[in-house]
Amino acid sequence: MYNFDFEKPSTIADAVAALADEDAQALGGGQTLIPTMKQRLASPSKLVSLKGIAEMQGICMSDAGEVCIGGATCHADVAEGAGSYPALAALAEGIGDPAVRNRGTIGGSLANNDPSACYPAAALGSGATIVTNAREIAADDYFQGMFTTALEEGEIITEVKFPVPEAASYQKFEQPASRFALVGVFVSKGAGGVRVAVTGASEEGVFRWSEAEAALSGNFSADALDGMAPAADGMISDLHGSSAYRAHLVGVMTRRAVAACG
Ligand SMILES: Cc1cc2nc3c(=O)[nH]c(=O)nc-3n(C[C@H](O)[C@H](O)[C@H](O)COP(=O)(O)OP(=O)(O)OC[C@H]3O[C@@H](n4cnc5c(N)ncnc54)[C@H](O)[C@@H]3O)c2cc1C
Repeated sequence: MYNFDFEKPSTIADAVAALADEDAQALGGGQTLIPTMKQRLASPSKLVSLKGIAEMQGICMSDAGEVCIGGATCHADVAEGAGSYPALAALAEGIGDPAVRNRGTIGGSLANNDPSACYPAAALGSGATIVTNAREIAADDYFQGMFTTALEEGEIITEVKFPVPEAASYQKFEQPASRFALVGVFVSKGAGGVRVAVTGASEEGVFRWSEAEAALSGNFSADALDGMAPAADGMISDLHGSSAYRAHLVGVMTRRAVAACG
C-alpha cells in the first residue's frame, strides 16, 4: 500500500467539502476500494470515510411507507433491520460472508455498480430512489452501464428509499467462491406494477427484463414465463458460464423469484 491522507468527517457537509480536493475519494466499507488500491488500479491521494456520519447510518420508515436506509449502513444491519421489507433483508443476508456484510455498505455497493452485485437488482427491481447530497435520482435513471452510474464527481449517496411492494423476492444463482451473482433476479409486484431486475448477466450491468414484466402484468405466475429467456446477445460470457447459459439462467431464476413471491 502507498501513503495517502485520511479524513473521517461527522457530517455530510464536511464530507462533501473534503471530497472537493483533487484526487479525494469516498470510502464506504472499503471492500472494493481497498483491494483496488492495493492492486494500484486506483490511487486516490485522500480517502474520506463516510462511516463516522451518524445521519448516514441506520434504517427507518418514511411517512410515505418507504424503507429508508442510510448510505453508510452495512449489509449486516440491513439484514437485521429491514424486516418490513423481507426480500431486501434476505438479499442483504446473502451478500458475501460475515466480514463483507459487516464492512460493506449499501452506498458503496450502489456507487460501485458491479455488474454482479445484488443491491443494484434490489434498487432497480423495487423502483427505489437514490438520495445524494445534491438530489434524488430514480433507480431507472441511476444505473448507466457496468460500473457506471448517474453520480457526479464527489457526489455521495446519503440514503436509499425503497417503496415496499405487496410481494417481492430475490433469487441468486451464486458464484460459489465469492457469493456474487452469476445471475440474480429481483421481482416485485406493487402499486407501480411488476418489476423484474436482473444482475450478473448483462455486459451492460443491471437491467429490467421488460418482456417478463409484460407477461407477468397479465398473469403473475411462474407459468406466464414458460419457455421465456432473454436473448443471449450482450450477455456476459466467462469461465463461469457462456452467454447462452446465463440467458437460460435468467429465465429459470425469474420463474423461481415469481414462485417465491407466493
Ligand atoms: C469477498 C467478497 C464477496 C462479496 N460478495 C458480494 C455479493 O455476494 N453480493 C454483492 O452485492 N456484493 C458483494 N461484495 C461487494 C461488497 O458487498 C460491497 O458492497 C462492495 O465491495 C462495495 O461496498 P463498500 O461499502 O465496501 O464500498 P467501498 O469499497 O468503500 O467503495 C466502493 C466505491 O464506492 C464509492 N463509495 C463508497 N461509498 C459511497 C457513497 N456512500 N456514496 C458515493 N460513493 C461511495 C467509493 O469511492 C468507491 O468508488 C463482495 C465483496 C467481497 C470482497
